[in-house]
Amino acid sequence: MSTIADATVVEIDYILRTDGGEILDQSGPGEPLSYLHGAQNIVPGLESALTGRAVGDELTVRVAPAEAYGERMDDATRNIPRTAFPPRMHLQQGAQLVLADESGRRFPVWIAEVGADTVVVDMNHPLAGTPLNFQVKVVSVRAASEEELAHGHPHGPGGHHH
Ligand code: ZN
Repeated sequence: MSTIADATVVEIDYILRTDGGEILDQSGPGEPLSYLHGAQNIVPGLESALTGRAVGDELTVRVAPAEAYGERMDDATRNIPRTAFPPRMHLQQGAQLVLADESGRRFPVWIAEVGADTVVVDMNHPLAGTPLNFQVKVVSVRAASEEELAHGHPHGPGGHHH
């Protein structure tokens, strides 16, 4: 398995920057990100840019919001009474929660602000509306195991631990 295709497990070193050059995220030295290609483990724009690449390839790719965490929606914050959360729950700005609406449909939100009485949540991902500039090096490519394909994520070093 020499090139990246669906059902391969890929390791990449990466740096993620804003258009202004601010580093948002990066893999640690000698700790590449491991993901299962074709399983939406990474944002769609980066996944498609990596298709067909090989070990040692280096690329820079700018991913538009629509191919990353979506466009930023207006009026997407909601105020929730602090009492709606379990008293001991640790509520931290930036943390992700999953809420359910009246019909039971679940959707992710991110904590924007924690007040004494009110928690403000935002339905926008923190990086919604932000173009993502990835600088990527392909470290390894291998065929995924049956188990990895069934789970939809890689196992082993840098992968999922159960
Ligand atoms: Zn698993």
